Amino acid sequence: MHIKKINQCKDQNELLINLDKYVKMAEEQRTSAVIINTNIIDINEMVKLKCRIPRCFHFQSCANCPPFTPDVEVFKKAIRKCNYAILIKYNVEPAEDFADRKISLKNAKLHERQIAKIVAEVEIAAFQDGYYLAMGLSCGSCRSYLCNDEICQFLDSGRCKFPRVARPSMEAMGIDVYKLVATVGWDIYPIGPEKVHHSTIPSASAVGIVFIA
Ligand code: SF4
Repeated sequence: MHIKKINQCKDQNELLINLDKYVKMAEEQRTSAVIINTNIIDINEMVKLKCRIPRCFHFQSCANCPPFTPDVEVFKKAIRKCNYAILIKYNVEPAEDFADRKISLKNAKLHERQIAKIVAEVEIAAFQDGYYLAMGLSCGSCRSYLCNDEICQFLDSGRCKFPRVARPSMEAMGIDVYKLVATVGWDIYPIGPEKVHHSTIPSASAVGIVFIA
């Protein structure tokens, strides 16, 4: 692969061509993908608080989950420096793998691992194209989808077992993912553990994003 020299000014036409390339790269892997302007992203402390109330299994147990993720205001400020992102929605099939409580604890992590890998692939492709600040966020906790709910090795010993794939979720940074997905016109449903029977849920998705800067 030809690695390009870093230039001080980025060519906007080339950037748009590359963004299309990242969309196609993601779409080859059972996803929908779209280029978005980052000003449509709502970053909101309430989203991050949902990791704490009601308390998620992974809260304070995974280095990529709250309270260890960056402060919402820091993230908001950083994202302002970046105009574009690729939003990626991995279609979970069957939807029961997310929606049926009897199997989701075992099966959801398989899909979350897939979206994390796709996010990491797009991020590294962008990095190698010269967008060296490219940064991906994924879905769920890496303690579940990579470390099989074992003790987080980073918190235990300072060494993450999967640094190339493990990423914080979008929610762990405060991104309102439901709102963002609805804004771009995709379907998304609030899948929770109670009240709604899984057979009534039309589809399930795992969402990731790669910021290109
Ligand atoms: S991949 Fe494993 S070791 Fe790395 S941060 Fe996640 S839980 Fe910790």
